[in-house]
Amino acid sequence: MQERIGLKLGEFFDPIYTRDPDGIPFFKMLINGEWFFSVSKKMIDVDTPIDGSVIARVSNATRDEVERAIEVAYGSKPKIRNIPGIERIMIFEKAAHLIMKYKDDFVRTLMLEAGKPKRDAEGEVRATVDRLMLTMEEARKIFGEYIPGDWSDDTTGKIALVIREPVGVVVAISPFNYPLYIASAKIIPALLAGNTVVSKQSSEDPITLLLFARILEEAGIPPGTLNMVTGSGELGDYLVPNEKVAAINFTGSTNVGRRIAKTAGLKKLHLELGGKGMAIVLEDADLDLAAKRCVEGSLKNAGQRCDAISAVMVVESVADEFARKVVDEVRNWKHGDPRDPSVKVGPVINLVAAQRIQGLVDDAKEKGARLLAGGSHKDCYFVPSVIYDVPLVARIAWEETFGPVVTIMKIKSEDEAIEIGKKSRYGLDSCIFTNNFYKMWKVAKRLETGEVTINDLPRHGVGYFPFGGSKESGIGREGIGYSIEEMTQLKTIIFNLEPAGLGKAKKVYL
Ligand code: NAP
Repeated sequence: MQERIGLKLGEFFDPIYTRDPDGIPFFKMLINGEWFFSVSKKMIDVDTPIDGSVIARVSNATRDEVERAIEVAYGSKPKIRNIPGIERIMIFEKAAHLIMKYKDDFVRTLMLEAGKPKRDAEGEVRATVDRLMLTMEEARKIFGEYIPGDWSDDTTGKIALVIREPVGVVVAISPFNYPLYIASAKIIPALLAGNTVVSKQSSEDPITLLLFARILEEAGIPPGTLNMVTGSGELGDYLVPNEKVAAINFTGSTNVGRRIAKTAGLKKLHLELGGKGMAIVLEDADLDLAAKRCVEGSLKNAGQRCDAISAVMVVESVADEFARKVVDEVRNWKHGDPRDPSVKVGPVINLVAAQRIQGLVDDAKEKGARLLAGGSHKDCYFVPSVIYDVPLVARIAWEETFGPVVTIMKIKSEDEAIEIGKKSRYGLDSCIFTNNFYKMWKVAKRLETGEVTINDLPRHGVGYFPFGGSKESGIGREGIGYSIEEMTQLKTIIFNLEPAGLGKAKKVYL
C-alpha cells in the first residue's frame, strides 16, 4: 500500500492548526490577531494534486465572520497608519528573515498543496523574500509633490501639496497558481502603504498563505491589520460589495474578475486577469533560443501561469525546423511526481483542470492540428505536449490553456500575428523572437498587450518591471512601486498665501 502523504510543519506553526482525529491538519483563520475555527460546520478539503488525497482542511467562513473581518480591518486603520514607515519596513525585513528560517515548511507545503516541483516551490519562496526585502523601493513611491500656483492666473498666490494616502481596507483575493507570491505581492504593498487587509486565498491551496500570515504576525504586524478568511469563491460575494472596503485587489480568471467589477460598486479596482500569451518567431530568429524559451514559457509551472506562452506563431519558412527543435527541447522537461528533484513539470492543480486541457488538445486535433508529443493525462498529470499547425478555428488558438502544452501555429508574417492578437479578448503578455530591430519595434508598438518581451519568454520574477493587462486581461499595474500607486490615493492640499502677503489682487472668474 502507498504511504499516505502527510503535511508536516515545524512547531512555530502550531498555533494556527490542530490535527483532526485522522491526523489531517485543520487550519484556523485569522481575525483581529486571533487564530480560530469558523463556527461554520462546513470544511474544505485541501487535496494534493500528487495523488488526490486530502492533506489539510480549512474552514469555510460564514458571512458574519467575513463581515467581522472587514469591520476589524476598518477599525484597525489607525493602528497601521500610526507606525512610522521605517518601522513598517523593519517588520517586513524581519518577516523576510523568518521566511528563510522556516523555508523548508513553505517549500514542502507548496509542493504538496499546489503540486510544485521543488525548484519551482523554492523559486516562489525566494521571490516572496525578495519582494519583502525590496519594500524600501516600494516605499519610495509614498511621496508627494509640490505644485507652485503661479503658472496660472487662477492659482497665483497659492501652492498645493499633493500627498499620497492609504485607501483604507483592501480586500486581496488571489489565485491558486502562485499561492504565496501573488497574495504576498498584494499584502506587502497594501500594509506598507498604511492600509489594512482582508485576504481570501484560493481554496485549492490556501495553506502556504496562512503560514505567511503567521510569519507577519510574529514579525510584528498589529492585530487586526491583516485578516485571513478561508473558504470558497462565494466569500467574494460578501467581501466585494461591502461598503467599508475601499479597494479590491484581485488576481484570477477573467470571468470572476468581470463578476467582481459588476458587484464592487464605488471602490478602487485592481484586476489582474487571464491571458493568452503569444510568442512570435520570425524567419531571422535564433531558432535554438526561440525553441528553448518557448518551451520554458509553455511548460513552466505546468503551464499554469497567466503570462505563459500559450500560442507560438512561427513564420512558415522556419516552422518545421522550429517544431523539431521544440520537440527535442520538450524531452528535457521530465514530468511526474513533484517530490522527485529531477522533475520539472508536476501535476496540474486538479482533475477538472487536466480534463479541460485534454478537451482543448482533442479539439485542436479534430480540427487538423498535428500532435507531436504528449497529448494525454493520467489523473492530474498532463504529459508535456506539442501540437503543431494549429488552425485558427481550434479553441486553443483563443482560449487560455493553463496547462503544459506548446501550441504552434503557422503565420505568413508578423502582420498576421498582430492581426490575430488584435482579435484576442486578452491583452496580457507577449514576446517576439527576431534580430530585426525594426520588426521588433513594430510588433512591440502594435501588439495590444500590457507587456512585450524581445527575445525571451515573458517572465516577471519579483515584479521589478510593471506588470498588468489590457483588454479583458485586467485593470491596473503591479510591480515594485507600481503596486503602491494602486493601493494609495492622491490628496491635494492647497495653501492660500495671501495672509503672508504673497497673494494677488482679487479677481472674479466665470
Ligand atoms: P479563479 O477561479 O478566478 O479564482 C481566483 C480567486 O477568486 C480564488 O481565490 C477564488 O476562490 C476566488 N473567487 C471565485 N469566485 C469568486 C467570486 N465570485 N468573487 C470573488 N472571488 C471569487 O482563478 P484561478 O483558477 O484560481 O486562477 C487562474 C486564473 O488566474 C487564470 O485565468 C490566470 O490567467 C489568472 N491569473 C492572472 C494573473 C495576472 O497577473 N494577470 C496571475 C495569475 C493568475 P476559490 O479558489 O475558493 O474558488
